[in-house]
Amino acid sequence: MRHCIVCGKPFLAKNVDSVHCSKKCSNETYRNKKRAEKREMERQAILAESEGNALLTVVQVCSRYQISRPTLYRWIRQGKIKDHNPGDRMTLIDIADIEGLLDIRKNPLEETPKKRLYSLEPEDCYTIGEVSKKYRISESTVYSNLRRHSIPMRQIGRFVYVPKFDIDKIFKSEK
Ligand SMILES: [Zn+2]
Repeated sequence: MRHCIVCGKPFLAKNVDSVHCSKKCSNETYRNKKRAEKREMERQAILAESEGNALLTVVQVCSRYQISRPTLYRWIRQGKIKDHNPGDRMTLIDIADIEGLLDIRKNPLEETPKKRLYSLEPEDCYTIGEVSKKYRISESTVYSNLRRHSIPMRQIGRFVYVPKFDIDKIFKSEK
């Protein structure tokens, strides 16, 4: 018995590569993939149109440096970033300003903890069965926790792998 990577329900796999319980769940994965591809294409288009410009619009800055609009507007309000087009509705940001600020933020004293990169190499992972055995919980409980904590999974052959680091953190703290 396998568990669907979308809804977590157990299902009987039709072939070795099946990871979804139903057409509905495989469509969900397909749609998410398409959405992500579309977002990335839009981002690339924005990057291309601003290539070589010294002054960037808010949209261009946010795409290029992967920051949110509220963050950028906050920096402008706080005077950390200058609007090079004051008085006009279109805010323009100098690349040198934003890169200067981002460099300051790289200072280790100010740095906020970075989002950890997940390793999904088998040696850094448990299989679902191993998690279930180690923490004496059912596989469905393992899956519901993976979803709740947005832990990534990787299917290799018949096994679903999940990062040890995150699993230990979740289940140790919940004990
Ligand atoms: Zn499903």
